[in-house]
Amino acid sequence: MAKKMHPTPILDKLESGPWPSFVTGLKRLAEDKDYVVDLLGTLESSYRNKKGYWKGGTVGVYGYGGGVIPRFTELKNDDGTPVFPDAAELHTLRIQPPPGMHYTTDVLRKMCDIWERHGTGLIAFHGQSGDIMFQGAKTEGVQAAFDELNELGFDLGGAGPAVRTSMSCVGAARCEQSCFDEARAHRQVINTFTDDIHRPALPYKFKFKFSGCANDCMNSIQRSDMAVIGTWRDNMRSDEGLARKWFAKHGMNELVNNVVTRCPTKAIMLKEVKELRSDAHLTTVKVSDTHALEIDNKDCVRCMHCINVMTGALAHGTDTGATILIGGKRTLKIGDLMGTVIVPFLPLKTDEDFENLVELGRKAIDFFAENALEHERTGEMIERIGLVNFLDGIGIEADPHMVASPRTNPYVRMDGWDDEVAKINARKQANA
Ligand code: SF4
Repeated sequence: MAKKMHPTPILDKLESGPWPSFVTGLKRLAEDKDYVVDLLGTLESSYRNKKGYWKGGTVGVYGYGGGVIPRFTELKNDDGTPVFPDAAELHTLRIQPPPGMHYTTDVLRKMCDIWERHGTGLIAFHGQSGDIMFQGAKTEGVQAAFDELNELGFDLGGAGPAVRTSMSCVGAARCEQSCFDEARAHRQVINTFTDDIHRPALPYKFKFKFSGCANDCMNSIQRSDMAVIGTWRDNMRSDEGLARKWFAKHGMNELVNNVVTRCPTKAIMLKEVKELRSDAHLTTVKVSDTHALEIDNKDCVRCMHCINVMTGALAHGTDTGATILIGGKRTLKIGDLMGTVIVPFLPLKTDEDFENLVELGRKAIDFFAENALEHERTGEMIERIGLVNFLDGIGIEADPHMVASPRTNPYVRMDGWDDEVAKINARKQANA
């Protein structure tokens, strides 16, 4: 039985309404924890005075330079003692999630037990950084909790100017759109840079994120310095049985308005069956006895829309891998940046392929460590020094896929075009 609750009239209001309230959860934990009783007192003071009362400091675990977010109360009496002494410290442990965020219930229960023993019992799955946030421990509880979590197979996440905790989507385990083994890529990359996670020594943070397809469930294009996004380079696959089933259920309006017209590059055409062409770069699938879809794979930009709508009837190809983008972040000091493509297609199937991915990450981090200014993210560094210099630094040839933004000027210089056309024709003749 914990000590008597402090009055919390403002927090109580957050329990009204139809949604579950974190205040109710905290009150439940407060039933047998003085720590949480005082935490609620601190929180009520913050709501009343519209002021946060936590300041940072230095708390860590042996052998690590980051991963614990220290918080000490600033809510003091005139004699300097804390107003809520049982919640005078509220440190957070960042713990790295497993790839794809797959847990067993047994592990989740053990995590809850550990945190109730050494901290408040309050856990967030997952914070903005991707970590499991074990919120609220006193200094003496931090090492003890970490030791037990480490015993369970988990490690601290990154904090400060370091390689940060990474995230990967649920992936091949549960999603048919997955184009590579995200869990393997995540694990292999992060295990390689463990030292850079635990000992912050970079100009600023560096994040990896892994999404199995262009749906990009990890938002990696906006939220990581190096985004690995699954894609394919052969033809899209199709299944006539499922396509007919889909069409019988959804009909022509849906097919036209939600599939064909929404293709951003007009790669899909609705055709009468008798007009269907056959060509190596076309994917065709009948949706009925009279109508069919014809997809020109040369024009498809692998946006995933048609596959999302007609999953199974349409599917990604089998020659799969990932597109690598660098420098995304929302929001930077220079504004929002989406990642820039630096490798349009990296196969990710063999051991060697995964080693190539790790090697690319290593080159990007080494270049970033040597060339970025303090507090400058990769995207900002590339804006400052130019993409060409970055590519040169990590040994990658420039490619038209790397254009940062589509051209807006309709005037095109045409001198030299005749020579280019002659070259293309010569190549075609040689290949004929
Ligand atoms: Fe068009 Fe390709 Fe996107 Fe399908 S995946 S909507 S064909 S660009």
